[in-house]
Amino acid sequence: MDNITAPLQFFLDPGKRIYWGYAFTAILIASLATTYQQRSFNPGSQLLALTNPHYWFNRSTLIDYALMLINSLIRTSLIIPALGARLSGALIVGAFLQVNVGDVQIVSSSWLFVAILFSGTLFLADDASRFLLHREMHRWPLLWKMHRVHHSATILTPFTVFRVHPIESVIYSARGFIVFSLVAGTFIWLFKGQLSALEVLGVDALGFIFNMAAANLRHSHVRLSFGPLEGMFISPTQHQIHHSIYHQNVNFGSCLSLWDKFSGTLVRSREIPRDTKLTFGLKQPMKIGRSIGATGRV
Ligand SMILES: [Zn+2]
Ligand SMILES: [Zn+2]
Repeated sequence: MDNITAPLQFFLDPGKRIYWGYAFTAILIASLATTYQQRSFNPGSQLLALTNPHYWFNRSTLIDYALMLINSLIRTSLIIPALGARLSGALIVGAFLQVNVGDVQIVSSSWLFVAILFSGTLFLADDASRFLLHREMHRWPLLWKMHRVHHSATILTPFTVFRVHPIESVIYSARGFIVFSLVAGTFIWLFKGQLSALEVLGVDALGFIFNMAAANLRHSHVRLSFGPLEGMFISPTQHQIHHSIYHQNVNFGSCLSLWDKFSGTLVRSREIPRDTKLTFGLKQPMKIGRSIGATGRV
């Protein structure tokens, strides 16, 4: 029963993107963006657009919901039991370094400094590894076969984030586990005893800010650009460009756009004329991204 109701818990879990608090800020930001773009505030029509049943219930979104349920079942019945507590991987890495590299200890007078350094390192490693895996998903035919499920969405809603092939979902979980184990294990080894389990497992502060700042609008039809900040952070419009049938080999980043900048795959919102309607899905052959080879994949 717990497995079945797990997706409902997503609304109450700050670790999930559709947590009610993030949904609330997303609606607020969407309203502000729409008001700004239309140069007028029309709460009636905004509410109508938000509650339009054709937007939330259609052929595309039904697949999102089905995959959300399937992936949640796999997570609770397979991934969590298989990978166990996240800390176990970190402790193994820490013990491995202690035995094979030797006893190193950095003493810091401030636990806060260690905690901030740890959160920052974990955030960077997590975001970079997501970027790399996502880019490979588009590059390798076998991985693309799975990842195209996410791109087959023709209507983007915040639930599209769960529209992922079950095997892709398992691969991403394994990635998260490996990255966390490596980073946390290294910190446990370097700062023995100065980083408590609580800090290691604490709420990911940067991820929280990212989710509050309109991450839900990435999968929506609300155009929201970050202007000059798009060279640093991926805006909702930049991810929508990634979903556009013409531009799928660009903007692979999750939070930071630096990785795309380095790999030559960054496209800013201003490069797409404002009045260009972005069409989502797989139907048409796409144009090729900046630096990724011409594969003709869609
Ligand atoms: Zn993609
Ligand atoms: Zn997406």
